[in-house]
Amino acid sequence: MTAFADSTGGARRPRCYTADVAMRVLIVEDEKRIQDFLSRGLESAGYAVDVAGDGATAISLVHGTEYDLVILDLMLPDTDGLSVLQKVRNRKVSPPVLILSARDAVDDRVKGLELGADDYLTKPFAFVELLARVRALLRRGQPTPERLQVGDLTLDCIRRKVTRGPDAIELAPKEFSILEYMMRNRGRPLSRTMIVEHVWDMDYDGLTNIVDVYIRHLRSKIDDLYPEKMIHTVRGIGYMLDTPEKGAEQLARGG
Ligand code: CA
Repeated sequence: MTAFADSTGGARRPRCYTADVAMRVLIVEDEKRIQDFLSRGLESAGYAVDVAGDGATAISLVHGTEYDLVILDLMLPDTDGLSVLQKVRNRKVSPPVLILSARDAVDDRVKGLELGADDYLTKPFAFVELLARVRALLRRGQPTPERLQVGDLTLDCIRRKVTRGPDAIELAPKEFSILEYMMRNRGRPLSRTMIVEHVWDMDYDGLTNIVDVYIRHLRSKIDDLYPEKMIHTVRGIGYMLDTPEKGAEQLARGG
């Protein structure tokens, strides 16, 4: 049983480069590996994240904090996720709920949707898929477009458009996901494994070489034609995105 409730209560941590207040997400999941995978991913996507490892902790967190979204696993050690869902739904202001369900538990999914879950995702899932669902749920009632900017490079998360200066840049979906991840983590060296875990399935071991291939594609589209390079190679680690000056500073400090 684990719970990592953030003790700052209502104080929200500024994480997102878009300068918006971070959305707060509660992850209810007892499996440590999935907990870590989700919380790391969502934090680097700019969300404030709390984790509950069982139903009782989840319910007490939901009563004490206003969440923008709850990600709810149905198989919990102390109680059924569906009863957690009912308790969340009984609250006056009830956040959207995204259910995580095991592959074959069709009945659970149906029941969950009947009980008012907003969406569901079947395990195992790719992080990008989860992030897309999370964004869709959070966008309801939140029409502000999310836009990332590093130097003259901009990425519009909603319209999925990338520009460098006046030029529109066409990216394949995976290239877009990698660029978005790097822009959200600007100035932070990212290992190939981190990029793989973020953009492909969670169990994509041994395919880190593919990252180099995609980075080459990305460079040819966003860097090669421009004097100022945004994607920096961090020796022994992987890659980092930043403006040329900032990137050089970071690398000189040892990244
Ligand atoms: Ca579980």
